[in-house]
Amino acid sequence: MHSLLYTHPSCLRHSAGPGHPESPARLQAVLEALDHDRFAMLDRIDAPRASLEQLARVHDATLIDLVLSVAPVEGYAQLDADTAMSPDSLEAALRAAGAVCAAVDALLDGSATRAFCAVRPPGHHATRDTPMGFCLFNNVAVGAAHALARGLDRVAIVDFDVHHGNGTQDIFWREPRVLYASTHQSPLYPGTGAENETGVGNIVNAPLAPRTGGEVFRDAFLSRVLPALDNFAPDLIIISAGFDAHHRDPLAEINLTEDDFDWATGQLMQRAARHSGNRLVSLLEGGYDLQGLAFSVAAHVGRLMKG
Ligand SMILES: [Zn+2]
Repeated sequence: MHSLLYTHPSCLRHSAGPGHPESPARLQAVLEALDHDRFAMLDRIDAPRASLEQLARVHDATLIDLVLSVAPVEGYAQLDADTAMSPDSLEAALRAAGAVCAAVDALLDGSATRAFCAVRPPGHHATRDTPMGFCLFNNVAVGAAHALARGLDRVAIVDFDVHHGNGTQDIFWREPRVLYASTHQSPLYPGTGAENETGVGNIVNAPLAPRTGGEVFRDAFLSRVLPALDNFAPDLIIISAGFDAHHRDPLAEINLTEDDFDWATGQLMQRAARHSGNRLVSLLEGGYDLQGLAFSVAAHVGRLMKG
């Protein structure tokens, strides 16, 4: 069965400002890495827009109205010190959140078991009511809520971006049908993600000390993330796939290689096989060194297409 690749041209046009690390060149590097014979079997699909109904499952009207109204006709609208919108940002944000909903629909309708959403802006810092940290809508949260609305009982979100997904944790803090499990550098932006932040027992945080590498990351996965997944037995796994824990990344100090992302992906596929009928959706979050990002995405998606 083919794996699916969701993307949209607007995601290449969204700009958060000149010199911003969350740049169009990131997605360009990702798409170039996947433009190779090895990935010829990916079914490439234009991401649809998320509907207001889909967004409103996880976001307050204050956030939705802000993102819808502030998009500038030219130049930039600054939402916080790190987060800005250009004229194409609203379209990109709607397509990014829509991609994961469409991927969930495709998997639940049985047309594929795995999908990768190559989109931007990223989403995991956006809370219920506040866009922040390069993120406008919380794409994976919109997707998880969509899966619940489609009738699934339990959805797991695994976040291996080097930053803690404070927004995803915030949105599902009291939602026992969603497991949120994160490995992330601590201390680092946004400052959340301590082990004692556990929600209603549905949040698992595995902070990693700066300058640690693959051995510590894999141990956190084996001792914290994977047992939580086995205990939760999700009907669907969604990955917040950030690649900024790569050793080349300029925004953090964790020293993973593309082999570590390959390994983690394989572990999550084993859990998807065990619990969720192989169903696994992955969505691009961070990753700010273009070479590290391209190599890591190639390893991640290459692994997703196997087995
Ligand atoms: Zn990140």
